[in-house]
Amino acid sequence: MRLRTVVTWLFAGAIGLLFLFMALSASVLWSFIHPVLPDAITLGGAVVPAWALLATLLALLVLLFILVLALFTLLFNRLIVAPLVALTTAMATFTENQSLTRLPPLSRITELQELTRAFIAYTNGVEAVHARDKEISRVKSDFISTAAHQLRTPLTGIRWALEALQKDQLTQEQHALVESAVGKSRDLVGIVGTLLDISSIESGKHQYRFEPIAIDQLAATVAQDFAPMAQEHSVTVSVVPPPAPLPPARADRQQITWVLNNLIENAIRYTPAGGTATVSFAQVPDRVQVLVRDTGIGIPQKDRNNIFERFYRAENAIQKENGGNGLGLYIARTIATDHGGDLHFENNAEGPGTTFTLSLPVAHA
Ligand code: ADP
Repeated sequence: MRLRTVVTWLFAGAIGLLFLFMALSASVLWSFIHPVLPDAITLGGAVVPAWALLATLLALLVLLFILVLALFTLLFNRLIVAPLVALTTAMATFTENQSLTRLPPLSRITELQELTRAFIAYTNGVEAVHARDKEISRVKSDFISTAAHQLRTPLTGIRWALEALQKDQLTQEQHALVESAVGKSRDLVGIVGTLLDISSIESGKHQYRFEPIAIDQLAATVAQDFAPMAQEHSVTVSVVPPPAPLPPARADRQQITWVLNNLIENAIRYTPAGGTATVSFAQVPDRVQVLVRDTGIGIPQKDRNNIFERFYRAENAIQKENGGNGLGLYIARTIATDHGGDLHFENNAEGPGTTFTLSLPVAHA
């Protein structure tokens, strides 16, 4: 119920009671003055019956009541409701943008002024924390980028050396050891490559190569690549072709392949055996969408706002899958927004699991 309605009703009730009290008092008074009052009164030459005079008086009183009520509502609106509404709007904008672009006007009421000042002080505090977080994150990214650059050369050297060693005459045991070392060094070179990708994407320095891409074909190929992993996890991966031909998306093939890999891999990893992962497509104005829906563990309400943050992993995901670094979705969303698109998710309305939707702009000829 709105504050305005509550106060108007309360005020109307109070004035109503006052009028009732006045009417009662008047009726008592009436019983005293009635015997001495004439039946009619002469006003400006005309004879007006006393009851008509009283009725007019009553009508005037009701009119006065309505006028006072309207005036009060107007004043109350100006002084209290409007500043509260402005403050609420400013709060909502701040929640959305994390910055206060327009200050809410100060009310004349002291308590509301204090509330507005407290809110402004709070937003200043939050903005300062954000700025500090950004700076920390920039320093961290710089460090990761430098460390990854430094690691890449010696690591590549180790991998080459191991691959050369593999060609030598080795015992079966030695061969197995070297092979395992080659595999691990490849993984390490891959991780370092990912770290470098992240820092270049994050710093906005990544050079995208946009081209028109048939997103349904690309997604189908990626899904196909996951067939062995899906089989290992006993999860059925299927691709539902679009009902009508899709326009090409404007995308960087390599980066979008990376995003699709991440979404489909997550759908398989976070779905218990026997579940399904379904890739489908949609078209909305100026955008094409890839939907990756699974019947998996879902994303708990308390984790919803953090899932796209770096290194964030939900508790249920950690329990289900040990491996994982919480970077995939962060990079995926950055890539999507760098394309002028978007990546978001919804827990499925019917049944368990989650649906991730990747939206990309349509490539215009
Ligand atoms: P990782 O999977 O390596 O942990 P991601 O950045 O890809 O990192 O995902 C971040 C987190 O988002 C996961 O740890 C998990 O909590 C959640 N998540 C991602 N995809 C799914 C999914 N399909 N179902 C349930 N949770 C998911």
